[in-house]
Amino acid sequence: MNSLSKFRVLILFGLLLGAASLAMAPQQAPTADSVLQELKAGNIHHANHRYTHPHETPSRQRELIAGQNPHAVILGCADSRVPPEIIFDQGLGDLFTVRVAGNVAGVNELASIEYAVEHLHTPLVVVMGHQKCGAVSAAVEGGEAVGHLPDLIKAIQPAVDKAKGMPGDVIENAVRNNVDIVVQLLRTSQPVLAPLVKQGKLRIVGAVYSLDTGKVTWLPDATQ
Ligand SMILES: [Zn+2]
Repeated sequence: MNSLSKFRVLILFGLLLGAASLAMAPQQAPTADSVLQELKAGNIHHANHRYTHPHETPSRQRELIAGQNPHAVILGCADSRVPPEIIFDQGLGDLFTVRVAGNVAGVNELASIEYAVEHLHTPLVVVMGHQKCGAVSAAVEGGEAVGHLPDLIKAIQPAVDKAKGMPGDVIENAVRNNVDIVVQLLRTSQPVLAPLVKQGKLRIVGAVYSLDTGKVTWLPDATQ
């Protein structure tokens, strides 16, 4: 073996050793900040229609039979135009998604979020409103609501009341206020979420999705 071949063998050996040590390294749990960066990057894929479609393979599906380890909770609207997995270019087992009209946080939504952060150790919660939200628009417009809708509108009402004194589009402002109010509600929610936030184990941020551009605007404390 000439010296060049020996050199090549050495390089190959080094690469194999490196790959083996990577494979054996314990998986580092993602942080809220790293997950937030990943969601921001995924949203750029969506806005540019250049998806990577991660974690959609049959092997990923089989891998998840053993358990789930989602890295973010998304509390989003039930609106068919705002599916989080597509908006953030994520796959199976990536997002723990709680969807309800107007992305409000009632008892069942809170319980679902608590399950994810307490039992699945999900480090990030994103509350996501969106442009032209029907539930928020209904709350702004008032009028007669039937069935169980009045209960939902009641939950959104504080955001609407606050928006009425603000300059600009009342529905857009109400959507943003509603996200802000729900973020605050989650951050101060006892006995599960508030202590985790205080201990730095959980980050809760707000976002608003644009139907026009496909882009997510992050509310100020999620922009760092
Ligand atoms: Zn909506």
